[in-house]
Amino acid sequence: MSAQGYKYEVHMHTYEASACGRTPGAEYIAEFKRLGYDGMILTDHFFHGNTRPSRDLPWEDYIDEFCKGYEHAKEEGDRQGFKVFFGWEENHHGDEFLIYGPDKEWLKSHPEIRDADQTEYLEMIHEAGGLVVQAHPFRERGYLTHVHIHPFQCDAMEACNFGNPPYQDAFAYNFCKDRGIIMTSGTDLHDVKNLEPSCAGMVFEKPLESIWDYVAAVKSGKGFTPLIPEERKVITSEMTNTLDMILYDENNIGKNVVLEDIFGKEKKL
Ligand SMILES: [Zn+2]
Ligand SMILES: [Zn+2]
Repeated sequence: MSAQGYKYEVHMHTYEASACGRTPGAEYIAEFKRLGYDGMILTDHFFHGNTRPSRDLPWEDYIDEFCKGYEHAKEEGDRQGFKVFFGWEENHHGDEFLIYGPDKEWLKSHPEIRDADQTEYLEMIHEAGGLVVQAHPFRERGYLTHVHIHPFQCDAMEACNFGNPPYQDAFAYNFCKDRGIIMTSGTDLHDVKNLEPSCAGMVFEKPLESIWDYVAAVKSGKGFTPLIPEERKVITSEMTNTLDMILYDENNIGKNVVLEDIFGKEKKL
């Protein structure tokens, strides 16, 4: 427990399950403990994202391989008295969501999720009681062609992502703040070396005993604080988007928008 509460990392990747992951699951534990964290939630890149296991594997084998990063971390976490929970990150054409709640057995018994479109996919997660968080909604990167913004399809949005330049977080933070959308904060950790300089994470008033405690707390919007540095909260006049932005309505129909449509004229300093 840190001074303010119980600190968790909620967006991170392992070598075993994410093609871009550098650190094997078990090798995170000692550093997290040293830095005073109470636990971590693994969110490796799933089937349509930058996943490491072969997509040619039979579904059950794919899931077994995919869960190895988590399982190795959990085993070491149990040994060292550190909490490790399971989640994943899915990608639909550059539009990414963090999923929390359903577990390995659920994935094995729902192979239809592989071919579900985005709306069906997120409905399946919600039917299972799970939590959907839109990851880094205003991210602009070489691998992306558009910014997709889904206020109605998710339960919360990642307002701070340590892997983003600050302006992308400033847009996300203000978007959430203006609309009363619940916010999360994560490091998007791929390498244990980046944990110490990270500014992100979530601090809870009570310790989390299972992934369902996380799901319930985030859905309620109460009992936690997403760590967001002040410089990632303010939109300044030089901040602008470089990719086209699409805002989705209640029916998941997208419409092209510009910054002024979203924030009005006055938002920029
Ligand atoms: Zn990655
Ligand atoms: Zn990620």
